[in-house]
Amino acid sequence: MKILLYGETIEWLKQARQIAEIVNGELYGVLPSKELSSEAAKILDKTYIFDRIMYEPNTYHKIIQKVSEKIKPDLTLFPSTIKGRTLAGLYAGYRNEPVITDVVDIRYCNEGELEVKRLVYGGACIATIKSKLPSTLCISLGAFKPLEKQVNGEVEYLKEVEKQLIQTEFKSKEYVGIPLERAEIVVAAGRGFKKKEDLEMVRELSSLLNGAWSVTRPLAADYGWTDTWIGISGAIINPRIYLAIGISGQPLHMIAVRNSKTIIAINKDPNAPIFNEVDYGIIGDLYQILPRLIEKLRKKQ
Ligand SMILES: Cc1cc2nc3c(=O)[nH]c(=O)nc-3n(C[C@H](O)[C@H](O)[C@H](O)COP(=O)(O)OP(=O)(O)OC[C@H]3O[C@@H](n4cnc5c(N)ncnc54)[C@H](O)[C@@H]3O)c2cc1C
Repeated sequence: MKILLYGETIEWLKQARQIAEIVNGELYGVLPSKELSSEAAKILDKTYIFDRIMYEPNTYHKIIQKVSEKIKPDLTLFPSTIKGRTLAGLYAGYRNEPVITDVVDIRYCNEGELEVKRLVYGGACIATIKSKLPSTLCISLGAFKPLEKQVNGEVEYLKEVEKQLIQTEFKSKEYVGIPLERAEIVVAAGRGFKKKEDLEMVRELSSLLNGAWSVTRPLAADYGWTDTWIGISGAIINPRIYLAIGISGQPLHMIAVRNSKTIIAINKDPNAPIFNEVDYGIIGDLYQILPRLIEKLRKKQ
């Protein structure tokens, strides 16, 4: 079996070597740094190196794709990091093959099939999945013991791909106020807010409380009102006070705020699930409650 990996650390290459032993495969790697080449050659059967260019997912994915066209791997491995998962999605989508993330165990079944175990529900459970080859897997770092086995691999330098294939403009994220992870008080807005401008009330309230503010995922990922959000796929927080406004309390949000010392919610629906998890609940319309709360706090200041 031919295995191709994308890697940036020697530790990860050694973990991939362990996987190659399990499935009895030859290990090929695409690495974005010359400095790794001599160490990589001791771990991988063949290493393809391109020299550090600014990270841009489409460019990197196309480089990995070019190598994979030469090798025709049965299995492609990425580390299950944000970068690894992004590249794996692009790569597998292009090749029209399945991609499985957060993989913690692999077993080779005969007839071109793998049995894969992956973490689900934020790591609370493990699912067992059968996947036909070729497949792309994102491996949870640390799930496989690094294998210290020395090989005498070849290194090929990918000269023709050193130019950026796509010109990308990078701009840094705007952070306003206290970072979420460090704030003692966090105020968050959910879909109870009707328009982006209304988030100004949340910003003002958090500033009066000397805290930070954020939103649920739909406001960020679907409506594009902010860059970041709270939840399993966003930020995990543990403030002294978490104030959730117009948020229903779905598990993928609540899992990230449960360590807050005190949870307070404002919601107009008395049956909203969030009321099962709060220390204090206010049933009412946020558009009536927030202006009055802000007014009171302004006067106090
Ligand atoms: C793979 C995946 C990952 C996800 N990751 C996350 C994540 O990391 N974080 C996250 O937040 N979500 C995540 N989600 C989405 C999540 O499942 C919920 O859909 C989301 O949290 C719901 O957001 P909400 O509470 O803002 O909206 P809703 O569930 O629509 O709730 C809105 C609430 O506002 C109340 N409301 C409406 N009007 C008013 C008003 N005027 N005054 C007071 N209350 C009002 C309603 O009663 C309702 O309870 C994920 C989903 C998927 C599929």
